[in-house]
Amino acid sequence: MNNKNIYLTFDDGPSIYTNELLDILKKYNVKATFFINGYNLDTEKGQKTLQRILDEGHTIGLHTNSHDYSYIYASVDNFLNDLKLLEKKVIDLTGIKPEIFRFPGGSSNTISKNYKIGVMTELVEIINSLGFFYFDWNINSLDIYFNDVTIIAKYVISKLGKFEDNIILQHDTKPESIKAVPLIIEHALNHDFTFKTLNSQSPSIHHNIYN
Ligand code: ZN
Repeated sequence: MNNKNIYLTFDDGPSIYTNELLDILKKYNVKATFFINGYNLDTEKGQKTLQRILDEGHTIGLHTNSHDYSYIYASVDNFLNDLKLLEKKVIDLTGIKPEIFRFPGGSSNTISKNYKIGVMTELVEIINSLGFFYFDWNINSLDIYFNDVTIIAKYVISKLGKFEDNIILQHDTKPESIKAVPLIIEHALNHDFTFKTLNSQSPSIHHNIYN
């Protein structure tokens, strides 16, 4: 018997490719988690895609409004302004207040050192005190580096199953990554993984903090 869980998570959308991803997820009846950026919600297209994500039973988490490292990681105030702006957009559009969050670059990012020493240590405490549950990942698809569908799918599949809970990082801004999703889903279904979405009760997969 296999008790392993798989969480498909997609960052940085909704994008022009997200509808293709939603079609795939619908076909397999698999639910996913989307960590969204606010600048995508300023167009009617983006707003419609957000609504479709929710209507089809997926989970929304906050990423940030701007995803601009040089802004959000330059000060706690900047970060909070950016996060609040995204939260307000989501609440205004959907009536939903997301409870989960993912740091741009993950909590382990070191790029933030370029803008403020120690900022991640501060922000992790702040995000917890605001009542958000933040999630990193334990399988990075590396889809921002790989430009080949088969390579992305094979890479993810090679990492699957080492943990009980497999939180995969992908980006629904990258068409090759979306096209890899059917291969990943079929492998997981054939190996008795259970698909889950993230929520406040999910196992807290956190990276080490380096800044
Ligand atoms: Zn991101």
